[in-house]
Amino acid sequence: NNRVTVIGGGLAGTEAAWQIAQAGVPVTLYEMRPVRTSPAHHTEELAELVCSNSFGAKNSDRAAGLLHEELRRLGSGVIATADKHAVLAGGALAVDRAVFSGELTRMLANHPLVELKRSEVTQIPQDTIVVLTTGPLTSPQLTNELQKFTGMEYMSFFDAASPIIVGESIDKDVAFLASRYDKGEAAYLNCPMNKEQYLQFYQALCQAEQAELKDFERETAKFFEGCLPIEEQARRGEDTMRYGPLKPVGLFDSRLGDFRAPENQGKRPYAIVQLRQEDKAGQLWNMVGFQTNLRWGEQKRVFRLIPGLENAEFVRMGVMHRNTFINSPQLLEPTLQFKTNNNILAAGQLVGTEGYTAAAAGGWLAGTNAARLASGKQPLAMPETTMMGALFEFISSASPKHFQPMPPNFGIIPSLPTRVKNKRERYGKYRDRSLADLATWKQSLTPEAIVVN
Ligand code: FAD
Repeated sequence: NNRVTVIGGGLAGTEAAWQIAQAGVPVTLYEMRPVRTSPAHHTEELAELVCSNSFGAKNSDRAAGLLHEELRRLGSGVIATADKHAVLAGGALAVDRAVFSGELTRMLANHPLVELKRSEVTQIPQDTIVVLTTGPLTSPQLTNELQKFTGMEYMSFFDAASPIIVGESIDKDVAFLASRYDKGEAAYLNCPMNKEQYLQFYQALCQAEQAELKDFERETAKFFEGCLPIEEQARRGEDTMRYGPLKPVGLFDSRLGDFRAPENQGKRPYAIVQLRQEDKAGQLWNMVGFQTNLRWGEQKRVFRLIPGLENAEFVRMGVMHRNTFINSPQLLEPTLQFKTNNNILAAGQLVGTEGYTAAAAGGWLAGTNAARLASGKQPLAMPETTMMGALFEFISSASPKHFQPMPPNFGIIPSLPTRVKNKRERYGKYRDRSLADLATWKQSLTPEAIVVN
């Protein structure tokens, strides 16, 4: 029986199961929702996006964009579906989340080689090839099982989700449509603040009441710097938000006319809150960078101090959750196989790659390798000069003592043979090298070596 088991139908598990089935290998995909749910998921669909609807920058000379492009060239089901259901988001690849997850669920459920089981797995099967993709909110029982299997304590930190607001409830006489530096079509609603409004908001935010952290979470809490709660940013200093998500640069209100005109000098807002379009119809807007742990009533009170949001209707409040990942440098090969049991593979947030696209990328490799193992072929590692290869090399070889989750970025890619000073040019060269090496690697996959052990 060469059937593969994938545990967890999130971004990584959905991609893994799709690759396995597309390779002609039968696969059972276990997803615990809706029988059991996580603190962050809201639906029973596969590949649910728990927070933002964005997969990051689109351009392939940006780290996220390069990862999209590599996955596109490798036949990723997740990225093909994201491309198909993209919504306007300036320079980012963002999707209509309901349509996106709905379609991936149907693709998997209708695939003749996929058996979709809705139940929680509490033990790691020993007699078959397994891909573990249970994500940052792996159910507690399986977490215990993983602790036994890896012999390790877990590392935990916090992630946080931003509130979502109904578009109609935003005052469009105040908020204006624009993308930063006019990139792409205008896809953000921007709420400008003068100094007095900003300071009033800042003070209210610093004093607002937070939700109680659970004992375990308080003990182990570490903020993930890329996803700091807005109130924590405020507490770091009066201007921290103005240099972060509320920075007032590169956004021009076209109602003022030419922003370079002398009469418009000095009209730059003191701070700007941005809202990103969530759905194709533009009915839902996500507060950019407003992940928060404030009590829900406090969120409404404080966020309605923002000009344009006085009557905001919230469809989802911001939340914060524990995030769990294994110590991959100690445990995994760059093929995403466990060192102690090569028939068990893992991918996604659980292995310490950060973000939706990175999870899909891990799902692609773990799924491809699980299918290869099931067919008697050698598992593969990817060229380190690709963003995917660099990520998997990083998580399997970083210092185990200081291991932290890693999003795609150019800092983990091997340097170019000659130094290129200009950043954009350098990133373009990384992209060219990556896509060329990926093409060569793909060609070299045949004829395939047979596993001899
Ligand atoms: P998931 O997508 O979470 O999938 C894991 C799946 O496994 C889930 O469907 C779960 O129900 C299932 N499962 C768990 N345990 C079991 C079990 N025992 N048996 C069966 N099924 C099980 N990333 C971003 O790129 N952008 C963001 O804005 C963002 N915001 C986040 C906000 C929060 C609150 C959290 C917790 C994470 C956020 N992340 C964000 C990170 C995000 O989780 C990952 O990018 C992505 O979802 C990881 O994909 P995954 O497949 O590893 O995990």
